[in-house]
Amino acid sequence: IIKADYSMIKNHIIYNDYSDWTYDVAKAEGAYIWTKDGKKLIDFTSGWNVTNLGWNNPEIAEAIVAQVNKNTYAPMWTADPIQNDFANLLTDSLPKELDAVARATGGTEANEEAMKTARAFTGRKKILGFKNTYHGQSFGTMAIGYLPEYVETISPLVGEFIQMDFPKTFGSNESDAKLLTDFEKQLDELLSGEDVAAIVTEVGIITGWGSTYIAPKGFLTIVRKLTKKYGTLLILDEVGTGFSRCGKLFGMELEGVTPDIATFAKGLSNGAAAIGAMVTTSNIAEKSFKNSHLTSTFGWTPLACAAALKALQIHIRDKIWEKAEKDGEYLLNSLQKEFKGNSKVADVRGIGMEIGLTFGQPNLMEKAVDVARDKGLHLTRCGDN
Ligand code: PMP
Repeated sequence: IIKADYSMIKNHIIYNDYSDWTYDVAKAEGAYIWTKDGKKLIDFTSGWNVTNLGWNNPEIAEAIVAQVNKNTYAPMWTADPIQNDFANLLTDSLPKELDAVARATGGTEANEEAMKTARAFTGRKKILGFKNTYHGQSFGTMAIGYLPEYVETISPLVGEFIQMDFPKTFGSNESDAKLLTDFEKQLDELLSGEDVAAIVTEVGIITGWGSTYIAPKGFLTIVRKLTKKYGTLLILDEVGTGFSRCGKLFGMELEGVTPDIATFAKGLSNGAAAIGAMVTTSNIAEKSFKNSHLTSTFGWTPLACAAALKALQIHIRDKIWEKAEKDGEYLLNSLQKEFKGNSKVADVRGIGMEIGLTFGQPNLMEKAVDVARDKGLHLTRCGDN
């Protein structure tokens, strides 16, 4: 495991600046990663919400090999049978209104497709997101949640994006009820001009920035109520929360909310292939497709669909979300009990197997993550979270 030395180029590969360590994976299986120098780590991040069914799941590998021997490519104007099979199972697993899917290669692309669809359908320009969230690495997806000061050098991003504060429970002295009332008032004001095409959000938790902040339960219900009231589309980014992570197959089930558009990636193929999906209603798709330009050369290759189909079949067959709910509850309770009254730990929180904590002293988290890794537990951090 190599500590960063400010050059983030190793063996000709450019790594992102936030990785203060890197390692080569010699082998990975289930919950474990073996580094090139022989260290065995428990991956407590599931490859950051990707390998929800374990690294190198053998059933998924088998499905890909079987597909390799049939067909590996389908251009944009065709469908391979496995693409149809996967589209059927994915839409069958979602609320019945969400019955049309656009093919993509990952989460960024699926979110771009969603925002283009929202603008094309509503004829409105503004997109609303929450500050300090991550929805992808394109100019548009960065405009949703990146703080402007992070991206000054590569700005301008995309026009007509507005950001509001996420009503997070951590750091607030207000009751959950007051947090939600204040949030509802702000959101009502922002949407009341009836000029916002869409709001983009995760399901009441931030998985994409490493902070794992949560909003009080009821957040999503308020967002759904107000978006309906003002004709704004609700885009749910389920890239991190989908595929059993939060104790339900999809995070939208936590409050029983059906969005206008949902986006998926990460756990979709369990990390075995690049794939993303934007799912919407056939009404929205029919009315927007001419202007939303949803094309993707490598979106849903048959190999990726073989992986995704098998992954979803396993989630459903084994009810993986039940394990995530049960184990998540155990882990959250254990951590909360362990750190109760410990001044170094400011907060422990989470939903299902998406769990985060904040340390109450600066720079302690970096040390804790280092110590954990030395002891064989791979964690990920973001500042003091
Ligand atoms: N949304 C969320 C919530 C994410 O966590 C991520 C990836 N970290 C993305 C979107 C972007 O997905 P991708 O990296 O596949 O483009």
